[in-house]
Amino acid sequence: MTTEKQTLVIASNNRGKLDEFRDLLTPLNIEPVAQSELGVGEAEEPAVTFVENAILKARHAATRTGLPALADDSGLAVDALGGQPGVRSARFAGPTASDRDNIEALLAAMAAIPEGQRSAQYHCVLVYLRHADDPTPLICHGRWQGEILTRPQGTGGFGYDPLFWVPETGSTAAELSREDKSRLSHRGRALTELMHQLAEVSHAG
Ligand code: IMP
Repeated sequence: MTTEKQTLVIASNNRGKLDEFRDLLTPLNIEPVAQSELGVGEAEEPAVTFVENAILKARHAATRTGLPALADDSGLAVDALGGQPGVRSARFAGPTASDRDNIEALLAAMAAIPEGQRSAQYHCVLVYLRHADDPTPLICHGRWQGEILTRPQGTGGFGYDPLFWVPETGSTAAELSREDKSRLSHRGRALTELMHQLAEVSHAG
């Protein structure tokens, strides 16, 4: 394992995500830096799959900085809607939609879907590129299975959490503590998998 600290650019400006990455990467001797701190703007997200968007975001950050890069893309896929809102989760109700707008749009889109057919998954794809032309990125995909309620319940979390019923806890994601959500969620699962893969790579290096 190398003893030199390695800088990793994170293709996100979300404070919560950056803190989460810092907690997990520091023990691996990796120093995460937000792309905005290096003068890098947001990448376009034109693709229809999470994995394509995460690769584009990571490559954008690696190309502009010359550093290894980590990107994530996440969202909600409802089975009865053919996987929508999917990569459009943040802007399901329009380009400037609030969480509340998106919740209302999802309830309207699912108004005719009966109980028992309201299954959904949160997805989080993480992509790690050693450099911009890396032909073998590390790719981790975390999934979290749930059901969409017919009205919001709970005040924690963000996004669609008040509608996302978690059978294993008997609550919505918005009713879980931050610790419990991190342990169970799509993002927590993808991050745990990435930590395993990065530890293997750094031991091999
Ligand atoms: P991003 O990964 O920050 O771009 O998130 C995309 C969108 O997916 C968010 O704006 C939310 O609408 C939704 N989303 C992703 N992860 C979660 C979550 O853990 N809870 C609720 N909504 C989420």
